[in-house]
Amino acid sequence: MLYDVVIIGAGISGAMCSYMLSKYDVSIAVLEAGEDIASGSTRANSAIVHAGYDAKEGTLKALLNVRGCEMMEGIARALDVHYQRCGSLVVGFNEADRAHIELLKRRGEANGVTGLRIIEAEELHEMEPYVAPDATCALLAPTAGIVCPYDLAFAVSENSAINGADFKFNFKVDKIQKNGDVFEIYCQNEVVRGRYVLNCAGLYCDEIATLAGDPLPFTIIPRRGEYMLLDKTESKIASHTLFVTPSEKGKGILVSPTADGNIIVGPNANLVEEKSDTSVTYEGLDEIAEGARRIVPTINLKANITSFAGVRPTPSTGDFYIQPSESIENLIHVAGIESPGLASSPAIGEYVVEILKKCGLALSKRENYIPTRSKNGNFKLFCDMTDEERSEAIKKNPAYAKMICRCENITEGDILNAIYRPIPAHTVDMVKRRTRSGMGRCQGGFCRTRVADIISRELGIPLSEVRKFTKNSKILYGKTK
Ligand SMILES: Cc1cc2nc3c(=O)[nH]c(=O)nc-3n(C[C@H](O)[C@H](O)[C@H](O)COP(=O)(O)OP(=O)(O)OC[C@H]3O[C@@H](n4cnc5c(N)ncnc54)[C@H](O)[C@@H]3O)c2cc1C
Repeated sequence: MLYDVVIIGAGISGAMCSYMLSKYDVSIAVLEAGEDIASGSTRANSAIVHAGYDAKEGTLKALLNVRGCEMMEGIARALDVHYQRCGSLVVGFNEADRAHIELLKRRGEANGVTGLRIIEAEELHEMEPYVAPDATCALLAPTAGIVCPYDLAFAVSENSAINGADFKFNFKVDKIQKNGDVFEIYCQNEVVRGRYVLNCAGLYCDEIATLAGDPLPFTIIPRRGEYMLLDKTESKIASHTLFVTPSEKGKGILVSPTADGNIIVGPNANLVEEKSDTSVTYEGLDEIAEGARRIVPTINLKANITSFAGVRPTPSTGDFYIQPSESIENLIHVAGIESPGLASSPAIGEYVVEILKKCGLALSKRENYIPTRSKNGNFKLFCDMTDEERSEAIKKNPAYAKMICRCENITEGDILNAIYRPIPAHTVDMVKRRTRSGMGRCQGGFCRTRVADIISRELGIPLSEVRKFTKNSKILYGKTK
C-alpha cells in the first residue's frame, strides 16, 4: 500500500497531525518505535495548557501556543478527555519579580493572550490561601488549563484510527529512502511507503532527519525534568497552576492541580547525556521540594505517591521548527517541540495540514467522518459516569459492577474497554494509562495482579506472559510453590 502521509512518532505532535489529517480523505500511517502512543516526552510532563505569555513575540512557539490553548477545550470536550481551564498564576516575591511579571503580561498581550491581569497580595491569597505569605503579586492567566497528556494523545489517535489511520507499534524507523516520489521507510526488513513524511520523532527528530539525508540545522538538547505526584488528599493546596517567576533556566518549579485530581510538583531542568535518561535522583527531588516550598511553604510532600521524570527535546534555537525540508521534497520536520508543545499541539496539527496543502497534497473533507473515539461514541470511565449512566452500564455489562482498582474506582468493565479499544491495551501499563488503574495511592499494589489476570484471560495468554510494559518487563516468572 502507498500511504498519502506517513507520520514518524506517535507523541502528541504526530497524534495531533494524524487527528487533523483524518478529517480529510487521505490515507495515513503512524509509525511508532515504542509499544504504545505517547512513549516519549508526551508521557511525562507537567500537563499544563499554557496560556501563551512565555514565548517571545513573533516566534512560532508564541503563535501556536496561543492558538493551541484556544483549541484545546473544544477537542477535550469532543473526545471526553480530562481537561480543566483552571487558570495559572506566576507568583512574585520582590520588585525584580514584579518587573518580570509586567514583562510577561506585555509579551502575552502582544502574543494575543486574553484576560491577563496582575493581582496584588490580598487577592492572590484570597484565591490561593496556601501560597507563601511573603508573595507580593502574581500574573493571572485565566485561559491557562490542565489536561491529561497521554489521554489526549490516546483520544486523538483513537479518533484517527477509526477514521482509517493505520498505527504500527514497535516500528523504530532505521532507514529512509526515496524512490522517485515515493518514500520507503524501514524498520529492519519491514517497509512502509508514503508520498509525504512527517518527522514527529521528538527527541529523535535529528536522527530521523539524518536518516532521510537532510540533517536539521540545529541540535536537540535533552533536558530532564523530575516530578513528585501528590495524593488527592492534598488537592486543596492549589486550584490554579502556580509558577514561581521564571528564570533563564526555564519556567521553574510549579505546583499545580492535575486534570485527574492530584497535585503535581516539579519539574527541574537538568542536562542529561542520554535522551532516554528518565531516572529520578535524590538531588532532583530535593531541588523540586525546595522550589515547591517557596510557593507553598506548608506543602505536605509526605503525600508523594510516585515520582517520575520526562526529557525535553530542547532545540538550540529556542523555537519550534516546523517546515518542509529544503532539500527533500515532501518531507516535513515537526522538530524542537519542547514546552509548550502539549499546549500547542492542536495548533501544530492545524499548521502542518496547511504546510501539506502548500506542498501539493490534495485535501477534500472525509465523507462519513466519525468525530468521536469509537464508532459508538466516546469512552467514559465508571468513576466519571452519573448514577443513571452507571446503572445503564452495569445492566449492559455486569463487569462494570466489579471494582478492580479501589484507589481510583476503576471497574472490570473499564479494563475490558481498554483491552478492546481501537488502539488496544495488552500490557498492565497500557491498561493503567487508559483507565488510571494503578495510578492511585497504592500505585497498583492491590489491582496490578487483578489487571494482569484479566489481560491473561482476555488475550488467552499465560499469566507469566503478561508484561508490565515493554518486551522484557515480565511481572511473573513462575510459581513459587
Ligand atoms: C519535563 C517536561 C515538562 C513539560 N511540560 C509541559 C507543559 O506543561 N505543557 C506543555 O505544553 N508542554 C510541556 N512539555 C513539552 C511536551 O511534553 C512536548 O512538547 C511534547 O510532548 C512533544 O511531543 P512530540 O510528539 O513532539 O514528542 P514525543 O512525545 O517525544 O513523541 C515522539 C515519538 O517519536 C517516537 N520515535 C522516536 N524515534 C523514532 C523512530 N526512529 N521511529 C519511530 N518512532 C520514533 C518516540 O518513541 C515518541 O513516541 C514538557 C516536557 C517535559 C519533558
